Amino acid sequence: MSDSPSLFTRIVAREIPADVLFENERIIAIRDINPQAPVHLLVIPKMEYRNVTELAAADPVLLAEVVSVAQSLASEHSTGDYRLVFNTGASTGQTVFHVHAHVLSGALEEGTLAH
Ligand code: AMP
Repeated sequence: MSDSPSLFTRIVAREIPADVLFENERIIAIRDINPQAPVHLLVIPKMEYRNVTELAAADPVLLAEVVSVAQSLASEHSTGDYRLVFNTGASTGQTVFHVHAHVLSGALEEGTLAH
């Protein structure tokens, strides 16, 4: 947890605009502002875990919900096939330390990752 609200918490609060594709009590999903694939979505637990390791340890059911939402959105917005990426740590490209799954789908180039 950090001291100030994360970027994604501010999106949940509608302080920062985003293209919201799904929302329930525990999860929000938005379109990535800088897409790295034809379909590039972010599935975000509203609780501010720093990364997927912390989420998995604290609430594995919520992690499973993230995967389920990713599958549903990949089916709705693409072919149903998708790549799920959790950048974990700054050296892997994590820039927002509020856990989020990148859902990448649609004609990915060989070896493409989120960053
Ligand atoms: P990461 O680098 O894994 O922490 O991912 C953060 C992601 O958030 C990047 O892919 C950014 O393009 C994306 N991002 C940053 N600001 C916004 C925003 N306002 N709306 C949607 N996506 C954003």
